[in-house]
Amino acid sequence: MTTETVTAEAGRDFIRDIVAADLDQGRRKQIVTRFPPEPNGYLHIGHAKSIALNFGIAQEFAGRCHLRFDDTNPTKEEQEYIDSIQADVHWLGYDWGSNLFYASDYFERLYEWAEVLIRNGDAYVDDQSQEQIRLTRGTLTEAGKNSPFRERSIAENLDLFRRMRAGEFPNGARVLRAKIDMASGNINLRDPVLYRILHATHPRTGDKWSIYPSYDYAHGQSDAIEGITHSICTLEFEDHRPLYDWLLDKLPVPSKPHQYEFARLNLTYTVLSKRVLTELVRGGHVAGWDDPRMPTIAGLKRRGVPPAAIREFIKRIGVAKSNSVVDVGMLEFCIREELNRTALRRMAVLRPLKVVIENYPEGQLEELEAVNHPDNPAAGMRRIAFGRELFIERDDFMENPPKKFFRLSPGNEVRLRYAYFIKCHNVVKNPAGEVVELRCTYDPATKGGNAPDGRKVKATMHWLSAAQSRPAEIRLYNQLFTKPSPDAANFAGDLNPQSLEILSDARIEPAIVEAGPRGPVQFERQGYFVPDPDSTPERPVFNRTIGLRDTFAKEVAVKG
Ligand code: ATP
Ligand code: MG
Repeated sequence: MTTETVTAEAGRDFIRDIVAADLDQGRRKQIVTRFPPEPNGYLHIGHAKSIALNFGIAQEFAGRCHLRFDDTNPTKEEQEYIDSIQADVHWLGYDWGSNLFYASDYFERLYEWAEVLIRNGDAYVDDQSQEQIRLTRGTLTEAGKNSPFRERSIAENLDLFRRMRAGEFPNGARVLRAKIDMASGNINLRDPVLYRILHATHPRTGDKWSIYPSYDYAHGQSDAIEGITHSICTLEFEDHRPLYDWLLDKLPVPSKPHQYEFARLNLTYTVLSKRVLTELVRGGHVAGWDDPRMPTIAGLKRRGVPPAAIREFIKRIGVAKSNSVVDVGMLEFCIREELNRTALRRMAVLRPLKVVIENYPEGQLEELEAVNHPDNPAAGMRRIAFGRELFIERDDFMENPPKKFFRLSPGNEVRLRYAYFIKCHNVVKNPAGEVVELRCTYDPATKGGNAPDGRKVKATMHWLSAAQSRPAEIRLYNQLFTKPSPDAANFAGDLNPQSLEILSDARIEPAIVEAGPRGPVQFERQGYFVPDPDSTPERPVFNRTIGLRDTFAKEVAVKG
């Protein structure tokens, strides 16, 4: 594939420009990228940006993208996360083929290279505590102080490092540090820690190791081992690049990757920090990693968000070099666009109010035709049952309506979609004064929803037959946080107490549960809904993916 065709196909950004130039000018023959998650939590929509970028570039430039687990911290990592990450990357539509790797596969080689650094006088064992190391690191304006152990002999360093590996010392007793420059303007170059002692069982290497490499040490060398050409990461690693390059320079690595940084995704009303997401789960603030309110890929999936909507969102926001916050309305816009195109239309009554059509014969039922998708005739028609007893939406009736209320009220005529015009004559109340039933009449001449005498009605309402509809539980979701930029340090105060509303006596069309593939559907006038895995045959449960109202587009229209 030439880079010209690529330009035409793909959205361009500064990283794709670099990749294209490296190929054109012969600096690289093949492009190799990687997505390197730490398996210490589930993936979220921010990770989707990195996944789409790394896998997307590999696809567009006929290269390959590795999935590499950055599993260097056994205290926080679990197999459950490894499994979920693989499932989520696949669900998003990307594939690493046979290129599945683990940083832990390289522990032996990383260890040998650490000995190379020691032998060349580029690393030393420091006996200072973590606290002492922190205190002597200096500040942005002040140089750090050399460790009293910095000038140890190579032989002593080798001996101590081997004994660290052998498990002779307790956690925290010693570290291996690169010997660079305690006065460097870049704090990352002030003798960064390469290895720490940690007596912990690793999900893959078990108890083999009692020392573990730091992110900075493991990451670049793993890239070099795998022949990564473009190591793409988020902006906070920009200041680490000199260390990334220093290590590649000092070590006998088989290839020279280059690190590039881009802006991470931030979203309004959303926290994208694995630490906070973990606390939300552990603290029981949500039902789990795949709670539909979570910004995790698993949560979005359970909520009914199609992967194509996520890919489109990532494409629209682009890739930039400076951080910004994206309006969550943009994501919602992409979800609506995709679902409007793909979701079949159905009727459901979320908060039912019973209607009796007094002039409709008892025991009679008739079938009416309804379209499955207004823009896609190929989606065909379905039949819906009409009878004497119906349900309408409670909100669609008002006993004493204000002026502009055109839906059902005593004496006012409305259209029931695909069915008839009806009029309300009587309101039945319970002893508490609540409306429990409406007594109505229908006009048999208006079958299909039009009056032969040309008279008009101002409202068309959805409805269901009492006898033919099925009960269902419906879960409505709102933003998990009340503030556009929730306080990640103290998130509990910004949690939305109304983020979940359960409607337990909703009614749905039988066609929703009878239809084969269980993708999202549009409940007419309400929004998009998807069956939840909590469903049972007797009691289907639906999640509202998103409502129909497009507030984001309105805002843009007003501002634009
Ligand atoms: P932490 O390092 O705090 O555990 P992390 O979100 O960086 O969290 P990683 O597993 O290291 O977790 O992330 C894997 C990749 O995803 C990294 O390359 C990281 O830069 C990228 N990434 C993480 N969060 C975002 C985000 N919000 N937007 C874009 N890319 C992200
Ligand atoms: Mg990270």
